[in-house]
Amino acid sequence: MAIDNNQGSAPVFNQFASDNYAGICPEAWRAMDEANAGFASSYGDDAWTERACSCIRDVFETDCQVFFVFNGTAANSLALAALCRSYHSVLCHDLAHVETDECGAPEFFSNGTKILHIPGLNGKLDLDAVEHAITRRSDIHYPKPRVLSLTQSTELGTVYTPDEIGAATVLARRHGLRVQMDGARFANAVAALGVSPAETSWKAGVDVLCLGGAKNGMALGEAVVFFNRELADEFEYRCKQAGQLASKMRFISAPWIGMLENGTWLRNAAHANRMAQMLADELVQTPAVRLISPCQANAVFVEMPAATVAALRAAGWHFYSFIGTGGARFMCSWQTTEEDVRALIQAVRLACRT
Ligand SMILES: *Cc1c(COP(=O)(O)O)cnc(C)c1O
Repeated sequence: MAIDNNQGSAPVFNQFASDNYAGICPEAWRAMDEANAGFASSYGDDAWTERACSCIRDVFETDCQVFFVFNGTAANSLALAALCRSYHSVLCHDLAHVETDECGAPEFFSNGTKILHIPGLNGKLDLDAVEHAITRRSDIHYPKPRVLSLTQSTELGTVYTPDEIGAATVLARRHGLRVQMDGARFANAVAALGVSPAETSWKAGVDVLCLGGAKNGMALGEAVVFFNRELADEFEYRCKQAGQLASKMRFISAPWIGMLENGTWLRNAAHANRMAQMLADELVQTPAVRLISPCQANAVFVEMPAATVAALRAAGWHFYSFIGTGGARFMCSWQTTEEDVRALIQAVRLACRT
């Protein structure tokens, strides 16, 4: 099945592998192009970076402190390192990116802070299990729990409501823990919930948010947003030491202006969510296909017969299948079209018959 999901003369690439397979959205591209006019000061001491920080403060309706880094692994691991000492521990979900996909960077940048993982349905933390992990030991031999890390939207494509975040942060605070949020897909959660960005972050008790740009439509770049400004003390040194201080910072910061000033970030996210919903609605009507977790953001997780997965791959479709042998993750982005979704649905139905 050949579909043209790319602009211009790009080769056909049938993929629902990740939202980071998408290109740069026009608004981010334009902002980068505008920032390319002439000279500007380096290392973030420029007008674009200042404006991008103001955009983030406006969007979150608070005087937060903002840092721009190259990617999500840096954002998460440096933020966690800022909240911990080496003998502390970070509690996160079993499937959390910081645990499974950062090659130990949080432990590395914090000089040994231990990640403790917690179970929970549909990618969300089970708060009883969180409390158990915090309280089961208080002796000097156990790495002292210091941070609760939540992913919004989650690694299984679900979304925490503001109340659920509030319950988690109240529990954390009761035990003296700080709260970090991995928001690689925060935009998708906000778009899905229809609440303000503030309500699903600092108003619900989050201290630090790692706000994703790449999967939302930028080339690269994530923002580390400290709502609790005290925790940002000397964070610029961490960024520099980790090789995360861009000398031509304006090209990381300016695209944020293009994303945030006119609501592109939420439009992109809402579009991706809508594509995923359309896909999920159709796939559940296919007898051999079962949803693994509810589709609440821009991902669809399904279980299919292994032969169906193999037939889809043989037909040239790209997707991840890291949840068991018959499991598949289909991820939508700002660039996914309805035609792409229809083509995949047709390909799945065809593959089911093989
Ligand atoms: C993609 C992703 C990140 C960031 O990954 P990088 O490749 O380091 O940019 C962080 N958290 C989650 C949940 C992600 O899906």
